[in-house]
Amino acid sequence: MIIFIFVLGLIVGSFLNCVILRTYKGESFIVGRSYCPKCKHDLKPWDLIPVLSYLILRGKCRYCGNKISSQYPLVELSTAIIFSFVYLQVGLTSEMIYLLAIMAIFIVIFVYDLKYYIIPDKFVFSGIILSAIWVFLTGDILITFASAIGASLFFFLIWFFSKGLAMGFGDVKLAFLIGLLLGWPNVIVGLFLGFFFGAIIGTISLLINQKNLKSEIPFAPFLLSGTFVALFWGDKIVQWYLSLIK
Ligand SMILES: [Zn+2]
Repeated sequence: MIIFIFVLGLIVGSFLNCVILRTYKGESFIVGRSYCPKCKHDLKPWDLIPVLSYLILRGKCRYCGNKISSQYPLVELSTAIIFSFVYLQVGLTSEMIYLLAIMAIFIVIFVYDLKYYIIPDKFVFSGIILSAIWVFLTGDILITFASAIGASLFFFLIWFFSKGLAMGFGDVKLAFLIGLLLGWPNVIVGLFLGFFFGAIIGTISLLINQKNLKSEIPFAPFLLSGTFVALFWGDKIVQWYLSLIK
């Protein structure tokens, strides 16, 4: 089963790469062939085997020798690892299907924001619809929606008072999704870790690149990493914290 989930992750990862690229170019990702961005040569099925094709072709286009971005195998492999991890955590359940879909959306937002410094609405909104349905079916509707509104409002205030400098409006919408997904009190853990990761990486990049504080660092990857940790270990972190302050 784990092998099946891993291979599923590789294939979904390959599809996510396609979603990221075609969304950026404004193309449909349902129809249309895959082609090399440089020489426009159509790619054959054996050029599109996740990870393997990249390794066999040594990261170069078969037709023109143009370098293929390492994003492709990295996203494929990460999706496979994350999918396998989710399966090991929750087993073969309906929750697994829900979480795999959410993880796929997370991976797209993560890479998209890192690469293009923007979070397309359609990704966040599909996540919000999906988790809203899940909350209605299984969750504590009132408190979870309150968490989502609270998280979103918190980001809205930062966005508003920093005049969009501290974070983008995309993060305000993403915070709503995170609130829905984590509920109370895990939403606090997720957001706190997001800021914590952001502060660490921000400080390191400041020291290494000597970037000034104004240079743009996309925030969604940190928020999503924090949310991921809170999703699977949030309860334990809350318990640990409560045991500290007792
Ligand atoms: Zn080419």
